[in-house]
Amino acid sequence: MQAKAQTNSTPSPSSSWRPRAATAARLGPHATELARIADKVRANERIDAVEALALHEHADIVLLGELANLVRQRHNPNPVVTYIVDRNINPYNACITDCGFCAFYAKPKSDRTYELKREEIMDKVLETAELGGRQVLMQGGHHPTIKSDWWCDLIQEIDSRFPQINCHTLSAPELEHFERIERRPVEEIIRDLALAGWGSLPGGGAEMLVERVRKIIAPKKTTTDRWLDVHRKVHEAGLRSSATMMFGNVETAAERIEHLLRLRDLQDETGGLTAFACWNTQPDGVPEAHLYPKKSTPALYLRTQATARIFLDNVQHMQTSYVTQGIKMAQISLRFGCDDFGGTMLEENVVSAAGCSNLQAIDDLERVIERASYTPIQRNSWYGIADERYDAPAIDAARWPNSREEAAHHQAAGRASFSIVPEPTESHTVFPEAARRGPGAALSKKISEVQA
Ligand code: SF4
Repeated sequence: MQAKAQTNSTPSPSSSWRPRAATAARLGPHATELARIADKVRANERIDAVEALALHEHADIVLLGELANLVRQRHNPNPVVTYIVDRNINPYNACITDCGFCAFYAKPKSDRTYELKREEIMDKVLETAELGGRQVLMQGGHHPTIKSDWWCDLIQEIDSRFPQINCHTLSAPELEHFERIERRPVEEIIRDLALAGWGSLPGGGAEMLVERVRKIIAPKKTTTDRWLDVHRKVHEAGLRSSATMMFGNVETAAERIEHLLRLRDLQDETGGLTAFACWNTQPDGVPEAHLYPKKSTPALYLRTQATARIFLDNVQHMQTSYVTQGIKMAQISLRFGCDDFGGTMLEENVVSAAGCSNLQAIDDLERVIERASYTPIQRNSWYGIADERYDAPAIDAARWPNSREEAAHHQAAGRASFSIVPEPTESHTVFPEAARRGPGAALSKKISEVQA
């Protein structure tokens, strides 16, 4: 009886009972500092890198989620979660850069290399277009001989045959690779690609924007400064790009914050980043798997994603990564700052090469979004609404996205239809339940068939 009475009583600080982590964060040595930082976030004041590190390392997960959700609502007050109908196409996998974490590439003379024929690529784009797709995310390896003119031809053909599809294509390291093998400035390469109809640059190849880490995991790849500079030049050319982070390998918590700081500084300068996404390293089957620690925990994903949402106060959208984290974790991340589910990915070849594939049909994506109390809504590459289920006059009544200039730019080019989402409402009545079914269901069935 005595033992039971002790269990039910509140332990005194001097007892030998050890509080769990969450309680420790509130009562432990960092409690005062965490409370001060949390108040700053609540007051919409920018936190610095030291404060972000304190939150990332010491705040309990509930506090992190609360603060990330608060910042999410500041940036994206509508109770919607967006996604894009798209496809990843990897036209070739030969690469001379030998990143130790990459299970996708093959050395140029290896019998594992492939190169898709133009007709094969166009068939994939056609199939994407027929399913209502808005984007193809196309990336390859660092091929020893394929140059930017090959991509200009491809993009031009896609843009002329499928103007509704944006080529969200290449990556900063690939552009820098072209610069090196073509011996001309990256600005010229960006200009040629843009003239061909290239619409936006994905955030691939960032991994960890810290030189110590890059030297270990990808020593032959673009440096931090060059990755940032290529994105800067893309923004200067009037295009937008996104940002990513691959964590959970050899980096420290402070280096994760350093990565976010570099992105925040770039965004202060250009405003050209549409979104941020992060995922943990998928170490299965990669060339240097023996060097990597075990796959990091879901908790680290949530802490990292939430910290990014809080710290990147100048980036509007946070994209979850259901392909690497699984759809349930992606659903949870909607309460840790994410407002976007990324792409439907009719096809994905890169992380699936490392044994990680959680592709989902549209119906399933929409169901998990709805169960998290948000309305799923389709978007284009620039986070404008591109969803025929919603009533355009109602949507035009309010603000979304921030990037009106680029909306006008792409509308003028006939490349994308931009709409604007209404102010937050008490309920979801702007997006009636009836309108949400229909095309999604049919698309979902077809996409499941293609993915199978
Ligand atoms: S991550 Fe990219 S650059 Fe690195 S080996 Fe793979 S394909 Fe090549």
